[in-house]
Amino acid sequence: MSLTIKPILCRAGVMDNYAYIITDEESNISAIVDASEAAPIIDFCQEHKIHPSYILTTHHHFDHVGGNEELKQLYGLQIAGPEAERLQIPGLDIGLKEGDVFKLGNSKAEIIAAPGHTNGHILYYFAADKALFTGDVLFNLCIGGIFEGTPADMRQSLQKIRALPDDVMFYPGHEYTWHSLRSLISGKVDEDMKKYYELAVSRLQEHKPVAPVSLELEKKCNPYLRDLQV
Ligand code: ZN
Ligand code: FE
Repeated sequence: MSLTIKPILCRAGVMDNYAYIITDEESNISAIVDASEAAPIIDFCQEHKIHPSYILTTHHHFDHVGGNEELKQLYGLQIAGPEAERLQIPGLDIGLKEGDVFKLGNSKAEIIAAPGHTNGHILYYFAADKALFTGDVLFNLCIGGIFEGTPADMRQSLQKIRALPDDVMFYPGHEYTWHSLRSLISGKVDEDMKKYYELAVSRLQEHKPVAPVSLELEKKCNPYLRDLQV
């Protein structure tokens, strides 16, 4: 595996967004996935001596693009994101659509269109690295609200995620696990959910993100994936 992935909690205690710093190890080229706000990202980059070359945006909402302009100015980086949301994404340089491949050094992300939360929402799928960035489409044990698309759009987007291999790890745009978990563990709990609970609690107790979780476990426990009509 040549891609390293580091989460940065943004808008802590308010929206609990995750930005991710991803680095292609061979080329040492880095990108920020969803620059929610500039300050915590700049702090992290200073501390780890990282100079990001790109921002990869999943969708246009303010809590995913809030740092775009400032980070672009500071690092002279390029911003990639859904072409369909070009006018709504501050500083967008590289427009992406379904089937495109974004190259980060020697690492490659396949672009998956996933409308529903917003019409242009895209996922970044690093197949060789088994990593999927899901923005506000898929959260741990939950999904994002359907703000622009239809329930059918969202269902189709979730089908695409469910079709991906079980050993892919996914990285959501928010830390909402505890909220979802609390409602799901109130009833009878099966072995898979027990496993999810233990994993989530142990990570949260250490003040770590619950992500990443495998798609295998997510497909078994997330009601929106498990009960999806095929
Ligand atoms: Zn959103
Ligand atoms: Fe969001």
